[in-house]
Amino acid sequence: MNFIETRGNDGHRPTHITFSQAILSPMSSFGGIYSPESLPQFSRDFLASHIDSGYKKLAKDLLDLFAVDIDGAVIDEALALYDLFDDPSNPVPVVKVYEDLYVSELFHGPTRAFKDMALQPFGKVLSAVAQQRQEKYLILAATSGDTGPAALETFKNRDNVQVACLYPDGGTSDVQRLQMVTEDAANLKVIGIHGDFDDAQTALKTLLVSEKFKAALQKHDISLSAANSVNFGRIIFQTIYHVYSYLELVRQGAITLGEPVYLNVPSGNFGNALGGYYAMKMGLPVQQIHIASNNNNILTQFIQTGVYDLRQAKVIPTTSPAMDILKSSNIERVLFDLFGPERTKTLMLQLDNEKYYRLEAEELAQLQAIFAADFCNDEEGLAYIKQAFAVDYLMCPHTATCFKAYDTCRGDKSIKTIVYSTAEWTKFSPMIAYALTGEKVADDKEALALIAQKAKVTIPPQISKLFDKPIAQDTVVDKQQIEQAILAFLD
Ligand SMILES: *Cc1c(COP(=O)(O)O)cnc(C)c1O
Repeated sequence: MNFIETRGNDGHRPTHITFSQAILSPMSSFGGIYSPESLPQFSRDFLASHIDSGYKKLAKDLLDLFAVDIDGAVIDEALALYDLFDDPSNPVPVVKVYEDLYVSELFHGPTRAFKDMALQPFGKVLSAVAQQRQEKYLILAATSGDTGPAALETFKNRDNVQVACLYPDGGTSDVQRLQMVTEDAANLKVIGIHGDFDDAQTALKTLLVSEKFKAALQKHDISLSAANSVNFGRIIFQTIYHVYSYLELVRQGAITLGEPVYLNVPSGNFGNALGGYYAMKMGLPVQQIHIASNNNNILTQFIQTGVYDLRQAKVIPTTSPAMDILKSSNIERVLFDLFGPERTKTLMLQLDNEKYYRLEAEELAQLQAIFAADFCNDEEGLAYIKQAFAVDYLMCPHTATCFKAYDTCRGDKSIKTIVYSTAEWTKFSPMIAYALTGEKVADDKEALALIAQKAKVTIPPQISKLFDKPIAQDTVVDKQQIEQAILAFLD
């Protein structure tokens, strides 16, 4: 499979690149991103033959369809990382919550958020490619809480890769911070900054394009890469679980093979939803994809009206912080797939320059044939968490936003919905403890104990052990000192 650029080619860069090139250097002409030139297709027979084949076998055969330029042995080792999930025979449990609502739980990996689904195998693949090329990479990551732990976990002690991870000091939950600052490996550097997530993200983007920084890295023979959510190495692993979850519904007798379903995705940068879109284009029987947001409802507006408008927009902090995003990067790949590179370039440049763009009526109709959207505010989310708990289902605040979209977006109520659960409740425990008990506790450890008692669940060891692990990373700096802190680490 070859990759081409969403905003067209500038005549300087190669027009087509391979998968391994796309994952090592994801920046392309005119600030675009790489997308597959064409998507492979699978048939009803392919689905039928994979009903009982298990996650790794399904993944392997889907990756084969993509024909990526990665050795089979490396892919096998990467997929074997799903054996570290709670149940190796079923890394993505799909749980029936209501008669026609099934939750696909994507959080059973080492850091208890869905970022592991892609980053676990991605880390292995990227490190293997770097080793084969005898190149060394510095991976930069900026996190509001879930990407950082997952990126550190996957690259820990891997060869030819070092990671510098920026997080807003005081801007993450206790659990998320501990997941990062207790990571102890020579190739990892965690840097807290005095500022918010936007400051961390801005610093990262500045460094990614800084010639001075790149030159300093070259002295160490190191190239720069990023593990952000536009990297196709993450997206490819995010198509697989949509197919798996569908087959799981068939296995459970909820649907017959070929019956359409709704996918319902809590969205931020749109990587998860894009994986569902690709799965649908490849042949998965999907009626429509429902995009759930929180009060940062720019995607709801866009899908309902065709206007992407950042002019008045400001990030609003919510109880589902991983979705507190306004510039949803992977929307660009949908525009590219539907409308082609020229139109995508026009729209994205307009967004850069005028902070908004508007689709034509026919374009909007095309978009709405595939997507519907709604947003859920914090109070509504709290109510959905209580409602689900009343039928013994414990879910995180991100997952809760999907329950609003489930209520409002379904055109055909006879069609079953797959909701994607992106984090375990353990990562957002004060909010969950409040939903379950009405008690306000600020401390994660206390909140976890409260939930464990009320819901009669055990806290998984990945979380409980964090509170006793020694702190290995204690760097916290001002924004101006980030570059210096990274270079000091490389020395
Ligand atoms: C990253 C994340 C999301 C958003 O996923 P995108 O692929 O960026 O849309 C939603 N929920 C949680 C818990 C996350 O960590």
